Amino acid sequence: MNRFVADLHIHTCLSPCAELDMTPLRIIDAAVKNGLDIIAISDHNSAENAEIAMKIAQDKGITVLPAMEIASYEEAHVLAIFDSIDKVMNLQEVVYKNLPDGIADEKLRGYQLVVNERDEILGFNKRLLFGATNLSVKTLVDTIHSFGGLAVASHIDKEIFSVISQLGFISDDIAFDALEISYNTKRERAEAVFGEYKSIPWITSSDAHHLGDIGRRTTTFLLEEPSLEEIALAFKGKRRIEWSDGVMK
Ligand SMILES: [Zn+2]
Ligand SMILES: [Zn+2]
Repeated sequence: MNRFVADLHIHTCLSPCAELDMTPLRIIDAAVKNGLDIIAISDHNSAENAEIAMKIAQDKGITVLPAMEIASYEEAHVLAIFDSIDKVMNLQEVVYKNLPDGIADEKLRGYQLVVNERDEILGFNKRLLFGATNLSVKTLVDTIHSFGGLAVASHIDKEIFSVISQLGFISDDIAFDALEISYNTKRERAEAVFGEYKSIPWITSSDAHHLGDIGRRTTTFLLEEPSLEEIALAFKGKRRIEWSDGVMK
């Protein structure tokens, strides 16, 4: 088994709330410099910058998993992590059908940039990517699984946009593969507050919106190879997962 340092929650300039310099090229560069082995590109309700990130990463010794952070109709955020662009695009189609109609107010919310491998702007996504979909948390998790992805409850320690903040608790009938604790909460505190959810594996990640955030929190996996399949085995208890408080900078 080998150790792989993972940051499975990184936004690009496609997310209206992320900095415009969060281009796939710069993200991969920062991730490599920080010694990360696996990252997930997880924009709000879209995966349109994921494929280019995977392409840029090909010869950089880092694995990029295409992902999305989807807002349920209860306004709880759920990470959907995949191993192929086709699978994440299938989910994106469903998410787009379930987003509210309307055009994003770029001046108010921020630009939603789709870029290429040279940091050139290919287009502006005009959908309401920060909006909530019409999909319940349960439907969302089941849909993610039906398309072959892993479903992780985002930042359960956050006071807004988390399953616990929006639903009050994590119901047994929602089959999350893992729960994410944000960079704000140390392990000890998380154990004290969320100990009742220890039967579900925990990860921690940066939720990076700025280049400097990348790798501020990571999860280390002991895997045979850096793949979604191996991470899925880790979530089933067949591989080791270690919490870490971030990479050394
Ligand atoms: Zn979130
Ligand atoms: Zn996020």
